[in-house]
Amino acid sequence: MPDGGTLVGDRSYPTLMLNADFRPLSYFPLSIWCWQDAVKAVYLDRVSVLSEYEASVHSPSLRMKLPSVIALKDFIPATRRPAFTRFNVFLRDSFACQYCGDAQQTHDLTFDHVIPRSRGGRTTWENVVAACGPCNLRKGNRLPKDCQMIPRQPPRQPTAWELQENGRSFPPNYLHESWRDYLYWDSELES
Ligand SMILES: [Zn+2]
Repeated sequence: MPDGGTLVGDRSYPTLMLNADFRPLSYFPLSIWCWQDAVKAVYLDRVSVLSEYEASVHSPSLRMKLPSVIALKDFIPATRRPAFTRFNVFLRDSFACQYCGDAQQTHDLTFDHVIPRSRGGRTTWENVVAACGPCNLRKGNRLPKDCQMIPRQPPRQPTAWELQENGRSFPPNYLHESWRDYLYWDSELES
């Protein structure tokens, strides 16, 4: 197997992972592999390389440029239900506070239980929304009707398609340039 060694150094060379139809396997960050996993998948012939970095790794018998975009050779059907994750809740809510509507950096967003946990509210798609810190504090342990703080959109489980659509509006700012074509090709066609 190739070995990172000094050629790769401390830089990270993330690989965008696409399904066999060249769509991202799931929306960022779940479609991004570290170069070690990507190189292993190429070595095992499970993926095709669509784009590469200049940097390479080598072993005595093999030299390989680090892949920046790879696609699975066998198609994996998209899961119907998106995973209930922190990132996906933010993505559903377009990274905006559901009370005041302000867009926030991810690290400034918090999660609010619409019905507070102390009142039996559960941690589900239907009861968790993105909220800025001040709104979350202001709401505290009150019920929406007691404080007149109602989420702008009634929270619910999004479809994978909805998340994908929202994701297009929020390109992570450190996408490698070779990824753009694969993330956005059909939005270009639609516009
Ligand atoms: Zn707010």
